[in-house]
Amino acid sequence: MKFEGLYEKTLVLIKPDAVQRGLIGEILKRFEMKGLKVVGLKLMRLDEAVLREHYAHISGKPFYPGVERFMMSSPIVALCLEGLEVVEAVRLITGVTKARQAEAGSIRGDLAMSVACNVIHTSDTVENARAEVARFFKPDEIHDYDKSEFVHVYTEDERV
Ligand code: ADP
Repeated sequence: MKFEGLYEKTLVLIKPDAVQRGLIGEILKRFEMKGLKVVGLKLMRLDEAVLREHYAHISGKPFYPGVERFMMSSPIVALCLEGLEVVEAVRLITGVTKARQAEAGSIRGDLAMSVACNVIHTSDTVENARAEVARFFKPDEIHDYDKSEFVHVYTEDERV
């Protein structure tokens, strides 16, 4: 691969509100249309232990019990995406936490109004992305494969 070492992986969780509202396809479509490569994808249920680890940075907040109940209220979709500087690209497409203030065109901006029920989680840094992909996917659930359009999107002239 031409940009070996610059490709990153990131974690997306399609949250229970999006699953309940039938938005799995819409959200997947947006990532695919952006040109990102899906290397891991599964429907799963979360428990208290994995949520406390995943949300350690907010587990002391008064709203945390509500977040935990919400995240366990139905299955979620875990998605691992790969691409050049994908962590930052996916955060841009995600929009800010408070969905009603998220930019139009972003997933939260277009699809949600709530802070708690903001349709997706996405990793915020490269370091966190590494830990989060490992938290939600076993190594054999991540698939390495060639994707033809992926090769053409990043041309010889691309500067990173
Ligand atoms: P992000 O998901 O944008 O990275 P945070 O890591 O700050 O945001 O928060 C994690 C999740 O906790 C949010 O996506 C949201 O679901 C929930 N959350 C954050 N702040 C609040 C709040 N004030 N009230 C209710 N839920 C919140």
